[in-house]
Amino acid sequence: MIAFEEARRLVIEEARILGKERVSLDLAAGRVAAEEIRSRISVPPFRNSAVDGYAVRSEDTAAGPGQTRLKLLAEQPAGEYFRKILRAGQTVKVMTGAPVPAGAEAVVPVEEAKQLEGFVVISRAFKPGENVRQAGEDVVRGQVIIKPGTVLKAPQLGLLAACGVRSVPVYRQPKVAVLITGNELCRPGEKLRPGKIYDANSTILKTLVESSGAGLVSIKQVRDNLKSLLAAFNTSAGQADVVITSGGVSVGDYDQVKEAARRAGGREIFWQVAQKPAKPLAFYRLKIKRRPVWIFGLPGNPGAVMISFEEYVRPFIKKISGRIDFWPREVKASLSVPFKKKKGRLNFVRVKLEENLGRWQATPAGKQESGIISTLSETDGLALIPAGAEFLPAGTRVKVHLPEW
Ligand code: AMP
Ligand code: MG
Repeated sequence: MIAFEEARRLVIEEARILGKERVSLDLAAGRVAAEEIRSRISVPPFRNSAVDGYAVRSEDTAAGPGQTRLKLLAEQPAGEYFRKILRAGQTVKVMTGAPVPAGAEAVVPVEEAKQLEGFVVISRAFKPGENVRQAGEDVVRGQVIIKPGTVLKAPQLGLLAACGVRSVPVYRQPKVAVLITGNELCRPGEKLRPGKIYDANSTILKTLVESSGAGLVSIKQVRDNLKSLLAAFNTSAGQADVVITSGGVSVGDYDQVKEAARRAGGREIFWQVAQKPAKPLAFYRLKIKRRPVWIFGLPGNPGAVMISFEEYVRPFIKKISGRIDFWPREVKASLSVPFKKKKGRLNFVRVKLEENLGRWQATPAGKQESGIISTLSETDGLALIPAGAEFLPAGTRVKVHLPEW
């Protein structure tokens, strides 16, 4: 059995980026940028109006409230270009986003002007630059707009689009296959026969994998026997970069995942971690035609599945996806009540978080056993109670990981 810190280090050390490809912007949501991208243009590309109004020379408006009367030369909607230079005593009506004509320095909003028979009366003096958006005030040509390792979401994709970029180099998306073991399992919707339970982990793992940025290539229920498991491993490893199994990794008579992983060619990196829940967690690597495939053997209890996914599998998937920010987000919190445990294993305690005078307070979110599902939906964070601790008085500061489930 190894310590949590050691297990996590081994997992992260194994993680390596899978390769690069180029995808069009409309298929890039959730992908990770693989290269630095610089803008080829300035944004906005030209000086334009921030309001619907009248483009003016500032000095023309200096006469004071109501004293300025300018000749209206033209009207300019967004998307059109006024070629002439604005001379003294002249104005052009410009809509929001329309180019500000050369010679003009400010735009008078329609609300602060009156238009009368080809003339416009201005209400006050306007300083140069008022209501004008300068070329390049958002992005300057040549500026770095995306750094490698960035996840492309609406803000990043919008920025790329605004800079006229049509496709992006991204890291290859990891492919994940899921194997659900357990002869006791039946599917939600089926009749629950004596001795059977509904399979929660298929739904849990499908949701978690999809939220991690990986692509789920298959999810299968497998019988608890070596032959079925070995066949399932061989198929899954052929399709995926990561195989996640649920159940059958403990010390029970039907726990055949480890043996099957070995027979499929897996090299054990570790099995069993000094933690609660998910002590039987196993991690393997194998090679399929010189391509690495990693196997995470998660215990079957749904609490153990969820917690080990957040602590090990999600950071691993993020790292092989090319992300730089792969660790769980962490806050420090004070325990609102004392906590007692046995020495020897790190405990992940499901907690609710509340802010109190600018500090986080963590309160256990009810039942903690790894078979309990109901309190997971009440959980804001996982408090890490160190392996060596036995009794923590109320007020003890602990690390809390914020799951992304
Ligand atoms: P195992 O790790 O296979 O020994 O399973 C540990 C516990 O988790 C047992 O009580 C199983 O019935 C339960 N379990 C295993 N797989 C699932 C699943 N897919 N959904 C819900 N419970 C499960
Ligand atoms: Mg089982």
